[in-house]
Amino acid sequence: MFKTKFNYPAILQALKSKFKQLLNSLANLQTSRFKIKYASFNFPSFQRKYIIYLISLTVFFGFYIFIVSQFKYYNKIKENNFRSFLNSTEFDHLKKDFINSLITPYKEYKYTIKDNDTIEKILKNYDVSDKDLKNLSSKLKEKKLSGIFAGTEISIIIKKVEGKNKIVRLFYPVSEVKTIVIKREEENFNVTEKILKLDKVEVVESNIIKNNLYSAAIEAGIEPNVIIDFASIYGFEVDFQRDIRTGDKFEVYYEKYLDENKITRKTGKIIYASMFVNGKELVLYNFKYKNKSGYYDIDGKSVIKTLMKTPINGARLSSGFGMRKHPILGFNKMHKGTDFAAPTGTPIMASGSGVVEMAQRYKGYGNFIRIRHNSTYKTAYAHMSKFAKGVRRGARVNQGQIIGYVGSTGLSTGPHLHYEVIKNGKKINSQRMKLPKGKALNKEARNKFELERINIDVRVARLRAK
Ligand SMILES: [Zn+2]
Repeated sequence: MFKTKFNYPAILQALKSKFKQLLNSLANLQTSRFKIKYASFNFPSFQRKYIIYLISLTVFFGFYIFIVSQFKYYNKIKENNFRSFLNSTEFDHLKKDFINSLITPYKEYKYTIKDNDTIEKILKNYDVSDKDLKNLSSKLKEKKLSGIFAGTEISIIIKKVEGKNKIVRLFYPVSEVKTIVIKREEENFNVTEKILKLDKVEVVESNIIKNNLYSAAIEAGIEPNVIIDFASIYGFEVDFQRDIRTGDKFEVYYEKYLDENKITRKTGKIIYASMFVNGKELVLYNFKYKNKSGYYDIDGKSVIKTLMKTPINGARLSSGFGMRKHPILGFNKMHKGTDFAAPTGTPIMASGSGVVEMAQRYKGYGNFIRIRHNSTYKTAYAHMSKFAKGVRRGARVNQGQIIGYVGSTGLSTGPHLHYEVIKNGKKINSQRMKLPKGKALNKEARNKFELERINIDVRVARLRAK
């Protein structure tokens, strides 16, 4: 309704015929004038006609160009006005009203789910009838689909019938690949799960570390959750805060699932990973045996290494973790470690591999050693009579290696080992800690692992060449 179109051909046709009439009358007039004025020159009649045509043509074209340029000018102004109107908020309102009036009585709402929301709670905000709420709620419970996730978006289509809001459609994602679709059927609801069809692909990505593992992995196009998996696989082998140097390399072979638009919808497990750190390469393979999946090094050794609960042989647990009356200070104090009574000189072992952070006299702890195992775990050993040879700050120790000997240095009433496990900076009960256990492969499993390892190596080489 805003478009003003000029019908050029029709206007020009009309103008032309008008102009012809004008020319005709002008020609008649001029012919008679010329007859009088130029009679003495006695022009032949064809010459006079020729001049008249020339003049008329010039006038006509001049007039024609003027008219056309005028039309063009006005059209431009109109067009600009129209364009600025389209861009105005006024038009926006109009457009919205227009579209709304078209789809009424249906309205679509989008809502981002918040913590502690339920479907019922959300729908109450949209003035939905109690009957609808009840029907839908029982249907979802029956299908065990009432779980919703904060941060995802729920889409609600509502129809207004006689002043009441009726749910027509409802959909919300419950995972990267699954959406719950609820459709109204008369007075009831049909609940279905829509599964996105995904293609599984396998990729090998690698990079050289410049700053840290995370930024190098992102740079290589690796998804954040794969990076977290990667770091946790290496958690007992590599201390990502201390061991990583510029120029260290990594490679990871994993699965991902793409939708029709080749967009990664989810990632699968890491099949193979390699890390060049501390001057050596550490290769890990995913291997599943009897439904148990784990990561193993090239020699078939599990990467998961638990910390020892008792880093001392032939000792007796003399004081557990918790509140107790301090034997020397006399008042109630939290005992944030475990005491093992043993004769002076009994060897103490490193409960896991790691780097010695402290090996010195330290307050009431006497001769004290603290080992950092990875970015999560540290262990500490106190009251030692002496340290083992070579165990000093910065030294690398292996699980089970002797680091010192039982004594009674510092605040101690008798020879014992005070042992602490520190998880993320917090002292925890070493006797109750739950650490994943890596299983050693038996002969049969080991043979299968060897075959799988070769198979994986071949696949990695092929993908690398791509
Ligand atoms: Zn103690």
